[in-house]
Amino acid sequence: MTRRQQIIETLQQNKQSAQQLANYFQTTLKEIIGDLEHIGKSIKPKKLKVEPAYCKSCNFIFKERSKVSKPSKCPRCKSEWIEAQMFSIQ
Ligand SMILES: [Zn+2]
Repeated sequence: MTRRQQIIETLQQNKQSAQQLANYFQTTLKEIIGDLEHIGKSIKPKKLKVEPAYCKSCNFIFKERSKVSKPSKCPRCKSEWIEAQMFSIQ
């Protein structure tokens, strides 16, 4: 099985952040992002669902400004307690 296939299987079972996937597959965030973009296009009619990052301190929701990076600070309360974007397949 290729890594992309493994990612698809994983995301069908559990929500994961890109960083969690990178840790799990022992690769870089950049590689994982590339895989996720490819997967998003190739799994039709299923969908790659992205839950936006949010601030755990004040619940500020980060819009999907980028697929990749985790925001480092909340623009509203300046907290750095940010939950990363979570990916899943449905
Ligand atoms: Zn906040």
